[in-house]
Amino acid sequence: MRYFSFLIVLMYFAGRQPLSAQGFFTDATEAVDFARDFAAQKKAASLLLEATARPVVSRRLPVPLTKREPFFTVAVQCDGAGGDDLVRHLSVRFSPDGDEWGEWMPFGSDAHGPDNMADRYYTSQLIFASAKNLYYQIAATPDGSRALEWTRIQLFFSCPGRTSAPSAGVHPVSTARGVCPLPSYQGRSDWCSLAECPYGSNPVYTTVTHLIVHHSAGSNTASDWAAVVRSIWHYHVDVHGWADIGYNWLIDPNGVLYEGRPDNVKGAHFSGHNSGTMGVCVLGNFQDADPKVSPSAAAIETLEHLLCWKAEKEGIDPLATKYHASSGLNLKTISGHRDGGPTSCPGDSLYVLLPQIRTVVDSLLHPVATSDPLSGQNVIRVVPRGDGDVLLEYVSGYRPVLGIGIYAVSGRLVDRFEMHSDRVVAMGALPRGVYWIQVTGPHGRQIIGMVR
Ligand SMILES: [Zn+2]
Repeated sequence: MRYFSFLIVLMYFAGRQPLSAQGFFTDATEAVDFARDFAAQKKAASLLLEATARPVVSRRLPVPLTKREPFFTVAVQCDGAGGDDLVRHLSVRFSPDGDEWGEWMPFGSDAHGPDNMADRYYTSQLIFASAKNLYYQIAATPDGSRALEWTRIQLFFSCPGRTSAPSAGVHPVSTARGVCPLPSYQGRSDWCSLAECPYGSNPVYTTVTHLIVHHSAGSNTASDWAAVVRSIWHYHVDVHGWADIGYNWLIDPNGVLYEGRPDNVKGAHFSGHNSGTMGVCVLGNFQDADPKVSPSAAAIETLEHLLCWKAEKEGIDPLATKYHASSGLNLKTISGHRDGGPTSCPGDSLYVLLPQIRTVVDSLLHPVATSDPLSGQNVIRVVPRGDGDVLLEYVSGYRPVLGIGIYAVSGRLVDRFEMHSDRVVAMGALPRGVYWIQVTGPHGRQIIGMVR
């Protein structure tokens, strides 16, 4: 709340306009701009609503942003009597001209947060809106059973600005020999300048035992995903008042990985029980989208390799269930947000994939290998990498010429080549699937399986 506490004094009572017999919105749209130095623009405005048990719709209000490209977001934060219902019973719709209106979009309540969530406000998830929209309306829709009273509705509008150019700062795939290297990723300064989106100033470190998967519940149709990540940073820091973006990692539908809070820094994502966790957010809405949306194959592949990297690094068994002290729950080491709190996150169509993701992570952690029949040393290891390539890693102590044949499960020869002095051979041209590898060396032939 560091930017907004002073807004309360700006609220005024002009524009009272009865819209139903039982209540009316009062708007104070003296929007406050607090991002003048950046491509981003952020403004806040306030509404009041008297206690009402019946639906109430605000008058047409101007979107208080002059910058709206490539999209803008809005979130609400409510005070009053009614708990999270204050958020869940609010909707917004937008219009480019004040005549033609889009669909009403309900605000979902937000179950993420830092460990101390005691006297928090009731805050929504982010709603993403097209840049063409100039007007909005807010609707309060109590279910009629009891009156809800919004003593304050704060609206937070934010435009992240366009991402100027594809970043050249993508961190390369590590060449370190490990079963699961960290996939290439966009570092903090690649998706937002550190002046605009700084790291949290007092990070708290934690020993990670559980890997928690989220969805962003926002847009499924953005094209500028770095801008979506910036929107989430703005939202977590400016609206929630958190020290930094809540997640440790984010993944877009193209499989691009974004660095959030640094590795092992405790996040703000797991319903107030963040100790011992790493939070990964798959960008998109996998719960409420109509029609239903599933995570892309590229996003899932990046997620699997990221989870494998962390599991290997921390010695986490991806198939295990372990006690998580902060929540007091026995949790699978790879869990969805909903396993630890009252939320639909990470959405049905991502949550249903978690068993398969655990199995794949386990298979990545335990790659197929073959041994030299004379020395007993491993000759070839199959090492999946984070960018979708598979490496054949040559780990024997001597270096004969090895003939490698790649066969489809049907037995059809797909590729054949020789390994000379190279320790690794990248096999990125193969589509995802299961293959046989035939290794021909000085000690005969062996067949090993390869899954990718
Ligand atoms: Zn979540």
